[in-house]
Amino acid sequence: MTRSASSPDSGVDRPGAAVTRFNCRFCAAPLRTTLVDLGMSPLCQTHITHEQLHEMEPFYPLHAYVCDQCFLVQLQEFVTPQHIFGEYAYFSSYSTSWVEHARRYSEMAISRFGLGPNSKVMEIASNDGYLLQHFVAAKIPVLGIEPAANVAKVAIDKGVPSTVRFFGCESADAIAREHGRPDLLLGNNVLAHVPDLNDFVGGMKRLLAPGGVITMEFPHLMRLMAENQFDTIYHEHFSYFSFVTVERIFAHHGLTMFDVEELPTHGGSLRIFARHAENADLPVGPRVVELRQREIADGFLSLDRYQGFTEQVKDTKRKLLGFLIDAKSRGKKVVGYGAPGKGNTLLNYCGIRTDFLDFTVDANPYKQGKMTPGTHIPILPPAAIREARPDYVLILPWNLKDEITKTAAYIAEWGGRFVVPIPEVRVL
Ligand SMILES: [Zn+2]
Repeated sequence: MTRSASSPDSGVDRPGAAVTRFNCRFCAAPLRTTLVDLGMSPLCQTHITHEQLHEMEPFYPLHAYVCDQCFLVQLQEFVTPQHIFGEYAYFSSYSTSWVEHARRYSEMAISRFGLGPNSKVMEIASNDGYLLQHFVAAKIPVLGIEPAANVAKVAIDKGVPSTVRFFGCESADAIAREHGRPDLLLGNNVLAHVPDLNDFVGGMKRLLAPGGVITMEFPHLMRLMAENQFDTIYHEHFSYFSFVTVERIFAHHGLTMFDVEELPTHGGSLRIFARHAENADLPVGPRVVELRQREIADGFLSLDRYQGFTEQVKDTKRKLLGFLIDAKSRGKKVVGYGAPGKGNTLLNYCGIRTDFLDFTVDANPYKQGKMTPGTHIPILPPAAIREARPDYVLILPWNLKDEITKTAAYIAEWGGRFVVPIPEVRVL
């Protein structure tokens, strides 16, 4: 990547601008333009125990920048991937709608790419085998590549072969030597977590079989910005992608996007399809051209497009707090549902503690009995809702609202109502 020769490297080039001394993780240009500054926030996976209530809790800046040169939206790294993934508490299989999404994906991939017993499918950040299990059931050889040992063990125990390692150029070469090259290489909701983006995408280029296909899913920046999804910005998500930016990153590593789908998952995701640039057997389809043009027309290759998001975020916060203050002053009981990463950003940025939410619930036993980071809201098992009979249940993982409103439909028995905070507060 080239950048303008006049760019000063100090990052201190504007009166009143925060001193920033870090560079774009793709093109290395200095970062100096703010997308949104969400203040100080603790790491989203550090649910705390009662004993830890008496200790100091580390908070880090949660400040998203957009690169002036390549328009990659990104955070500075305050956490290592080892910290994020070492004992990752998120088990994909706890979400039934996500497992169903994976099943439909596997059916699509098997039929579209003609996969069979002689094919090889590999998944990066394969978690507990929630997705590869569907290929195993179809007798297609798989390998999961998962950095969290405790999570990989769950996959192995249910018959999904997995190797415990971080992905990059070096591990890609080792995997190719030990296991061969995949015809389908996929990674869902992992690209955002990658600190060294060039090492990661370069590794995929090296690992993929000559005629192979890469698919990846990640939240779409266009939807994040259009729908005020600022709570999906958290320390563990280093990068936020528009299609034009991700296409440019892959192209830099010799990979060509030949198709793209827009999915409803995680508030609006992209599923990209890439292949080796040399592989002309898979022509670039119309959806690639259409989305690229739509993003360019919407201004994603111009800094102006990124200004104004801060004001949108502040407004979303004021509306949510307005609702909560009104509910509490009317004597209503409000609890949360879920303790996801996005809830951490939302609660900390908005300053929502037990003054508004008595507790929240989560199906993940790793989180139960602990408290939300920074805001110290108790996390209880879902059954606590039936006992407390709250007037309002604030759904923190709003991307799963259809699943949650079904699972906890019983709150209607006492007149309870669900509330979603994003894109703006709404009582369902
Ligand atoms: Zn850049």
